[in-house]
Amino acid sequence: MATKYIFVAGGVMSGVGKGVTTASVGTILHSMGYEVSCVKIDPYINVDAGTMNPLEHGETFVTNDGTECDQDIGNYERFLNRNLAKVNYMTTGSVYLSVINRERNLEYKGKCVEVVPHIPLEVISRIKKAAATDKADFLLIEIGGTVGEYQNMLFLEAVRMMKLADPGNVMLLLVSYLPIPRTIGEMKTKPTQGAVRTLNAAGLQPDLIIARSEVPVDAPRKEKISVFCNVKPQDVISAPDVESIYDIPLNFEKEGLGERVLSHFAMRRKKVRDLRAWRRFVAKSHAGRGKVRIGIVGKYFETGEFSLMDSYISVIEAIKHAAWDIGKSPEIVWLSAGDYEKNPRALRELREFSGIIVPGGFGSRGVEGKIAAIRFCRENKIPYFGLCFGMQLAVIEFARNVCRIKGATSREFEKGAEHPVIDVMESQKDKLRAKEYGGTMRLGAYPCKLRSGTLAHDTYKKSAISERHRHRYEVNPQYVMKLSEGGLKFSGVSPDHSLMEIAELPKTKHPFFLGTQFHPELQSRPLAPHPLFVAFLKAASMRRLLRSRA
Ligand code: GLN
Repeated sequence: MATKYIFVAGGVMSGVGKGVTTASVGTILHSMGYEVSCVKIDPYINVDAGTMNPLEHGETFVTNDGTECDQDIGNYERFLNRNLAKVNYMTTGSVYLSVINRERNLEYKGKCVEVVPHIPLEVISRIKKAAATDKADFLLIEIGGTVGEYQNMLFLEAVRMMKLADPGNVMLLLVSYLPIPRTIGEMKTKPTQGAVRTLNAAGLQPDLIIARSEVPVDAPRKEKISVFCNVKPQDVISAPDVESIYDIPLNFEKEGLGERVLSHFAMRRKKVRDLRAWRRFVAKSHAGRGKVRIGIVGKYFETGEFSLMDSYISVIEAIKHAAWDIGKSPEIVWLSAGDYEKNPRALRELREFSGIIVPGGFGSRGVEGKIAAIRFCRENKIPYFGLCFGMQLAVIEFARNVCRIKGATSREFEKGAEHPVIDVMESQKDKLRAKEYGGTMRLGAYPCKLRSGTLAHDTYKKSAISERHRHRYEVNPQYVMKLSEGGLKFSGVSPDHSLMEIAELPKTKHPFFLGTQFHPELQSRPLAPHPLFVAFLKAASMRRLLRSRA
């Protein structure tokens, strides 16, 4: 079967959940028995998402092959329960870079290389490569931004060219927004009509409109959108706000979205799969009894001008998956490391939490506050889980306060440090010297060996694992002996024993104190929660039980 290409564009405004909508369409088509994959197109000049500030752009997600990409790739991986890679992500910058490199190599054979058609042609060839690599029956291609923006015009041009060449295998979805202005109290369709006109001006007509709104779109409104936007009423899909993003596929199923897509391509559902497992998971997600209160300590939490949910989306989702898996309902609280620096007494609030996480991070701001929080967790037996940076800081804390290595720190904060217990990785030194920052960290999946008789080994229940990384610094091998003698266990190491990948305290000393040099959150899936998060949440929920009994 020839791959069916489904483009997803956004209308009216951003931030209405185009990524999870695209991922949910994928979940539905997958449940109908088809192979589904996704591509995300970002309209930025950045060659990848690794150089973007997570507070402006959201989390940098990392795939197995080490691509630093948009958080939506994480949504696709979670909803489709499949691994994606470099072919599934492109930015304007990466597209131009390929075209310009090809021009420099004389590959255009003396032709004038032009924005149109050469840029859309490069986009199309990448889309086709993704379809072939992933053996996709359906390839969903999400175009970042909103129609009418200068930035994504060339991508819409690629859609137009693909539709022209192969109309039977291409479909265009518009995810639009229907506001309900408070003073009017009524759902308005005009902005969506405008978005469709803008698409029309680009030579495109949407085949299906997903109407995002606060409440469901009623039949008269569907009729109106149908008439004014030139789609059948049954091709207007109502997508109201929902409690959890994981409810969206179930709403789409109710709206008959899958059937509409199949009918567009004159296809039928295959009866090999269904949504049963997803439905069971969603039911669990609403049935959690008893709260687990997880505090996340970070440096960005003071200003409140941005969406932390976006910056730490994989951590948040991993906590949810694990909490629901053990029948609990998670409560996530942002804790500001800066407060602990200004006022150490503020640390006492950590007692109110079932567990504490220090997630990934860069730079020295807030570090002393985070280290103080980790010390408090260690000394007061509060479950602690360190993710990458959070592991490095736990090692520093242990070096300073248990091994009595005065001034222990990371080379990241102090170039001439006397005791850099966390140091630049050997392989990173040349890159830093040459100021080659983009895409050069230790990225993607690497194997790791687990030592038996450790918390890590008991949790994974195997001795060889593979986890995803994104860092330049590591535990300094020169201090491993000293730290181990002090009682810190390196329970996970690289196969050649050179890199310390997991540090933990024995169960006899602490209910859960573990840090990973990798990012386990990147591999947590709704239908397959990450074992370390499950173990952490279990320990956290125990603490809660003990406290409330006391
Ligand atoms: N800044 C640290 C490093 O580069 C940790 C990175 C992270 O948390 N992703 O090693």
